[in-house]
Amino acid sequence: MAHGHWRDVAHAVGLLAADGAVSSTIFAEMSALASRTGAINLGQGFPDVDGPAHLKDAAVAAIEAGHNQYPPGPGIPALLDAVAAHQRRHYGLEADPRTEVLVTAGATEAITATVLALAGPGDEVVTLEPYYDSYTAAIALSGATHRTIALRPTSEGFRLDPADLDGAVTPRTRLVLVNSPHNPTGTVLTRDELGAIARAAVRHDALVVTDEVYEHLTYEGVEHVPMATLPGMAERTITISSAGKSLSFTGWKVGWLHARADLVAAVRTVKQFLTYVASGPFQHAVAVGLADEDGRTGEYVAGLARSLQRRRDVLCEALVAAGFAPVVPRGTYFVVADGAGLGYADAVDLCRDLPDRAGVVGIPVSAFCAPGGAVAEKLRSWVRFTYVKQEATLAEAARGLARLRR
Ligand SMILES: *Cc1c(COP(=O)(O)O)cnc(C)c1O
Repeated sequence: MAHGHWRDVAHAVGLLAADGAVSSTIFAEMSALASRTGAINLGQGFPDVDGPAHLKDAAVAAIEAGHNQYPPGPGIPALLDAVAAHQRRHYGLEADPRTEVLVTAGATEAITATVLALAGPGDEVVTLEPYYDSYTAAIALSGATHRTIALRPTSEGFRLDPADLDGAVTPRTRLVLVNSPHNPTGTVLTRDELGAIARAAVRHDALVVTDEVYEHLTYEGVEHVPMATLPGMAERTITISSAGKSLSFTGWKVGWLHARADLVAAVRTVKQFLTYVASGPFQHAVAVGLADEDGRTGEYVAGLARSLQRRRDVLCEALVAAGFAPVVPRGTYFVVADGAGLGYADAVDLCRDLPDRAGVVGIPVSAFCAPGGAVAEKLRSWVRFTYVKQEATLAEAARGLARLRR
């Protein structure tokens, strides 16, 4: 029966009821609960302080200078150059800014346009699980089938079992979409794990798409390894990132991708009919930040990573004191913690109670899993919290969480 693709999307993200009704997401429910109860919202991951002033000034200057009409479809030349320079400076990767880089409306559009351009009915797209929720929606829109590789909690963080790759990556696999540093778990994949994924992709001639939006936000000197830097992988990897998380300007929606020219051309073909272009003046400001000619932006980003590490420690300590069992993240904005010790088998119930009992809001990790699947079941009692909030806010959250200890 013919129907709009919204049903496929709603089904993929677990919002389609048996009677065809669509429920709202747990994110919306929890944000509404936070505003109704005045609880601290550690559910949604956005900073409560803006990024660096010199980049705000650059955005204002771009507006004043008249950069207020459609920018060029692939992105403004200064930003294309700055992305190429960023890839070279940080990772030794070479990109031709005119043919191998594309500016997008955040990483979200880069991911959706890439999946729509390169996968379709009959193809399979593999991701880690739990996964960022836009992946399964984009895969559903493309008509491809979503397969996953489980990340499992261990004393060394959430890890993948390379043996699982054999079952998941097959001749039907068109794309392997890898997110590291990983939302929601905060895991940073090791060079060995990335190497195992790379070998599986090569074996079955699949392309690899990487979501590296937290590339600069790792702790204790843990190294972020871009997939494209592994031997032979540059030509089969579409590298995606964004200014939102690194620069604390999530509302600017400036993202980009870097890949082989023919792959960029394919993605651009789809992208130009999704948004065509976005964020004109902000592209100018992000170009200033990525070029980092006076070192101010690099200093800001390094300081942000150090501060997030401290804030992670504050929240993890509070979670342990409250009876949660967190897995300490090595990057990102997020920590996931098992709430089973608090007497809840299902984190959905726990999250509904947390505003009253502790004055905080979190998101059940099952929201990042295939509805009704094995990973959702294994992580049923787990909750994701963000620590990208001011230290005073986290201290208040810690006092609230302390009330959970009976
Ligand atoms: C926030 C986030 C995105 C979205 O990035 P935008 O640039 O805001 O579109 C993509 N992937 C992950 C893992 C994220 O956490």
